Amino acid sequence: MFEDLRGFLAHLEDLGQLKRVHDEVSVKYEIAAGIRKASDIEGPALLFENVKGYPGWRVLGGLFATRKLVALGLGVPQDKILDRYMTLEEHRIPPEIVPTGPVKEIKWTGDQVDLTKLPIVTHAGKDCGPYVTIGVQIGKDPESGVRNVSVHRMLVLGKDRLSLWAPADHHLGRMILMAEEKNKGLEVATAVGVDPAIVIASQAKVPYGIDEFHVAGGLRGAAVKLVKCETIDVEVPAFAEVVIEGVTIPGERVADGPYGEYPGCYSEAKQAPVLKVTAITMRQKPIWQTALTGMPVTENHTLIEYGNGAVVHREIKKIVPEVKAINLTPGGTFRHHVVVSIKKRAENEGRNVILALLSMGIGLKQVIVVDDDINPFDPLQVDWAMATRFQADKDAIIIPRIACSTLDPSVPEPRVTAGLGIDATAPLKDRWRFEKVEIPGVDKVKYI
Ligand code: MN
Repeated sequence: MFEDLRGFLAHLEDLGQLKRVHDEVSVKYEIAAGIRKASDIEGPALLFENVKGYPGWRVLGGLFATRKLVALGLGVPQDKILDRYMTLEEHRIPPEIVPTGPVKEIKWTGDQVDLTKLPIVTHAGKDCGPYVTIGVQIGKDPESGVRNVSVHRMLVLGKDRLSLWAPADHHLGRMILMAEEKNKGLEVATAVGVDPAIVIASQAKVPYGIDEFHVAGGLRGAAVKLVKCETIDVEVPAFAEVVIEGVTIPGERVADGPYGEYPGCYSEAKQAPVLKVTAITMRQKPIWQTALTGMPVTENHTLIEYGNGAVVHREIKKIVPEVKAINLTPGGTFRHHVVVSIKKRAENEGRNVILALLSMGIGLKQVIVVDDDINPFDPLQVDWAMATRFQADKDAIIIPRIACSTLDPSVPEPRVTAGLGIDATAPLKDRWRFEKVEIPGVDKVKYI
């Protein structure tokens, strides 16, 4: 696949999926505005080559703004992406440690560390400041040393201070708390501008204790090459554009927010851990990558679709082996709403599917189950199934207060939601009453 981000960008440029922007742009709002527009019109990724106040830098945005770009990053056809992703996600290839790499071409240590020299972008109108939004964070379990790779936003607090919003129900957040219990900081590296497989793998919903670099190796079909950091005991992609090394300050918290989040609303200021930056390394002529979130669809939605889709698919298969298709809906942020099509062979299987999916804790709050003659991606067919195969008093399930990962502002308290299940499958008995009316010979009509 692609050795690095630059390899992927060259591929996109060949396909007309990368636009070089020569107009001068500010890191405040103007870059984000371009990404918003590109996201809304299914446009290309954007490489800003003239960033006001940051000569020598280029800023990349919207690299995964559309599902098409994610598919290109994985090198698979868009309609096959979930199947292919699920196969590759389980085909793990461990990373390889190499002595050095391009990310070591420039090193800032000690007093040279200065985050204000990086073109860090302010995105939404009411965001409290500039955020690193698509840095891949690498940390290690303080006991076992097993790596975790994930993406968390970081607010610039000063020349060598960042917030690190990693909540406790995320693996990195858990590691920060485990280190704090020993009154220690957690060493965390943030790699910005890596090959697409690493970013996609960072969103895999694999259990705690699985190093997502192994998943990335499987997705790209070759080991990820890693180099050691300069100031911390963490390994980072050798071909990253920029790496920010740091250590969390035990017990310290800072107000982080408001910030325009994935539900399309602002999240209030939260108390986030603080990272003291100890070194910054980068390539010559570095590319700073930023990503947009906010109203769907943005890259913060497209990137999560397949990791979430894979765990949802596997969960349904435990109950109903014949899963036809699943649609994590775009308006449901690829997190909150799912329509599932199954081949039902026992009565009430749809209800078990609803209970299983709502209890996964990944943020699902609405599950609609339809039969295998309904295409879950067609809103008309789903609506029709609800109109003819669903009765609210016996086929709806409401579960109050389920712990889950969510920033949905309608919830009664943080990281809790109510769940709604709609079993819109027809009963097996008297099946003919629910059969679609079809006219023979429609496929033979040639005159229109
Ligand atoms: Mn993990």
